[in-house]
Amino acid sequence: MFGRLHSQSRSKVMTYTISLPTCDSCNAVQYPSREICRNCFSENITHKDTDASGILLAHSTIGHSLHNQFSTPAGWPIATVQLNKGTVLIVHLFDSAMTTGAKIRLQSLMDPDGRRVFIALPLSMKAISWEDLIKERMK
Ligand SMILES: [Zn+2]
Repeated sequence: MFGRLHSQSRSKVMTYTISLPTCDSCNAVQYPSREICRNCFSENITHKDTDASGILLAHSTIGHSLHNQFSTPAGWPIATVQLNKGTVLIVHLFDSAMTTGAKIRLQSLMDPDGRRVFIALPLSMKAISWEDLIKERMK
């Protein structure tokens, strides 16, 4: 499994995690996924839950896509985010009005082609589905 979302309630504080490939020997996250650890060259890499919160590093909007699912009147926002543990990912962005440095959390969801993708959401936002995202884009 490439990624998944968990929410755990601890004293009314929601903690979100995603599953990322992680080295069993040195615990380094391997993203993008690879067969050999970039840190210690171990071949033992498995998916482990990691904190899904971080900050928005940069964002942009795709103005044209060959995939119909990304063709919306306002374009398709994407972003680079850095998780609190340091991993940097390129993800879909829920709200293009979010500013660089904003605190975010990632959610894993399935796109219409059945691929597991990540989307950056504001910290206070509940989990969404791909259909929710499309509805928001078409507003
Ligand atoms: Zn390692």
